[in-house]
Amino acid sequence: MAYSDKVRGIYKDTLEGIQTQGLFKVERFIHSAQAADIEVEFPTGSSLKKVINMCANNYLGLSSHPDVVKAAHEGLDSRGYGMSSVRFICGTQDIHKELEARVTEFLGTEDTILFPSCMDANAGVFEAILTEEDVMISDRLVHASIIDGMRLCPAMHDTFKHSNMNHLEKKLQLHADKRLKVVITDGVFSMDGDTAKLDEMVALCEKYDAMLFVDESHSSGFIGKTGRGTHEHCGVLGKIDIITTTFGKALGGASGGCVSGRREVVEMCRQKARPYLFSNTIAPVVVAGVLKVLEVLSASTERRDKLEVNTEFWRKGLEEAGFVLQPGDTPIVPVMLFNAKLAQAFSNDLYHEGIYAMGFFFPVVPQGKARIRTQISAGHEMHHLEKGLDAFRKVGAKHGILGLSKKEIIEKFGL
Ligand SMILES: *Cc1c(COP(=O)(O)O)cnc(C)c1O
Repeated sequence: MAYSDKVRGIYKDTLEGIQTQGLFKVERFIHSAQAADIEVEFPTGSSLKKVINMCANNYLGLSSHPDVVKAAHEGLDSRGYGMSSVRFICGTQDIHKELEARVTEFLGTEDTILFPSCMDANAGVFEAILTEEDVMISDRLVHASIIDGMRLCPAMHDTFKHSNMNHLEKKLQLHADKRLKVVITDGVFSMDGDTAKLDEMVALCEKYDAMLFVDESHSSGFIGKTGRGTHEHCGVLGKIDIITTTFGKALGGASGGCVSGRREVVEMCRQKARPYLFSNTIAPVVVAGVLKVLEVLSASTERRDKLEVNTEFWRKGLEEAGFVLQPGDTPIVPVMLFNAKLAQAFSNDLYHEGIYAMGFFFPVVPQGKARIRTQISAGHEMHHLEKGLDAFRKVGAKHGILGLSKKEIIEKFGL
């Protein structure tokens, strides 16, 4: 069948459906480097506007840090642009092995294997280490890439209610007869910014002889006293069997991911994980950049400490202004608006005030839980945060929601 009118018609109808449901995603074009201050073309075709970015995963402000950029340049000069091969044929350089060793050290694990992205790490790891004799027991709010990875794996799948340890224990008892059991969670959950109870999960896994898998994409580099991640924050460094994480967020923000953990798990991935075997790994220029990021973070906790101070200031400011926030203490600070149209209007008004912060609504978050997800960065200075708070207060007042409770906002705007 060629690309006939019928085919085109089917796709056009589907896309129009997405549009009429109000779920069509439109991208805004950034004409500058990723940072606290960016220049944006929005709507498409309009002149550039300088805005403050408050919704990037650039938690440590390293996406365009001069030392990282310089290290990447040096990596480009010394190791070239591309690998033109997967790892096991001729796509492994010394710096790839060096990065694996540095990540192992940073995360406090036994070994590490790089993947093109954390999405690929999650897509490959379960199938590589589990069979139909085994079970995966995941938190109900894990990231989409973990869900895809579990779909590709023949092991049985079950879930437990979000962060509910009693429910997890029941599921561990229910699946006691399985050969291998893996409990699966995010370290920090990206939509609500809450933290997994890893100390309790480690205890349960020890009691019921299960492995623990944690996706640290929204934690690596800044959660915990020295930024190792949620396992450090919860006092269980060295006790997580399988960690996946990304270099595409706090750790420089370019791309790449990894599986880090028990030696045999990593070796199983090297032998069997399909995104590792059949896709090029991280480009040398990015490897060089991430190596510099880890060096910067290991030398000083200055950036994660600044991020903590910024986050506290931001959260307190929004609370005092009278917004309903999702509780937590990570740099993910969701301002709850509940109604999807209100979230969209609010985001547009913020943009008008020079603040770039996206509205999130169904299907990214559950129906009736629309929000503006703000994300704080060590790249924000006080003047950024103050301008941000001014804009939120102004737009909040315009919509008449300052000081309203969740119930009152829902009464006023509906769901
Ligand atoms: C962003 C994210 C990923 C994907 O990371 P990439 O390296 O961009 O593929 C995976 N898991 C979680 C929890 C994430 O937030």
